[in-house]
Amino acid sequence: MASSEPSPTPPALGSRMPVGFVAHGAPTLALDLTRGSDFRRWGEALARPSAVLVVSAHWEGQPVSIGTTERRALMYDFHGFPDELYRVEYPAPGAPDLGTRVATLLGHATRREPTRALDHGVWVPLVHLLPAADVPVLQISMPSALGARELFALGQRLAPLRDEGVLLLGSGNITHNLRRLDWRGGASTPAWASDFDTWVAEALVRHDFDALLDYAHKAPALRDNHPTEEHLQPLLVVAGAASLGTPPVSFPVQGFEYGSLSRRSVQIG
Ligand code: ZN
Repeated sequence: MASSEPSPTPPALGSRMPVGFVAHGAPTLALDLTRGSDFRRWGEALARPSAVLVVSAHWEGQPVSIGTTERRALMYDFHGFPDELYRVEYPAPGAPDLGTRVATLLGHATRREPTRALDHGVWVPLVHLLPAADVPVLQISMPSALGARELFALGQRLAPLRDEGVLLLGSGNITHNLRRLDWRGGASTPAWASDFDTWVAEALVRHDFDALLDYAHKAPALRDNHPTEEHLQPLLVVAGAASLGTPPVSFPVQGFEYGSLSRRSVQIG
């Protein structure tokens, strides 16, 4: 449930920020202006956030860790990609006030990792979504050992941030089986991937979070799509933060790449 902690600034009417789930795909997205154009359009349509809080598939850890609150060099946490990808910069300011606020909302169940830089799950989509890199960004770890309902509850505890101008983003992929990708492209999308992607989208549109949280039993072909579930789990956190009422659900980015990798990105609210 949402925390009873008072907000430091009263929310203005109608100022509640949406939450987002960004399909970060392969890191080369950061260099790809064509694939990035959907994210750019999405970012241009968003109200300017006061800060961005990101939960990425690429930082798992329990209890929730609060990453750097300073501007730091990025983490290039991948191997074998073109040299220019290791020169991408995203010099967003740190978000010390947001770090304090997250620690307050989550209470003693947090720790600090002040030298932990932003990983590619954060900066690859932000390069396009907020290209000016002038909004403070904070990353927290995703406690992936938790069950679906606990991850959802984590999002619920972070929900008050939406009324403080914070854009909460989950970064992963709705389908993610690297062993079955067609890296050369050209392969058609297999039914196990499109069925799963559609199932998640329909559950979101119906605001059927009970079904979403029971994906292990209800979703088709779970293990084909997620041999491990860390790329799906950020969606559960942001869904929790958007679970009050029936806010509008939209998909600013859709489709597949490399055959079975869903590009579906989600905005709720
Ligand atoms: Zn990833």
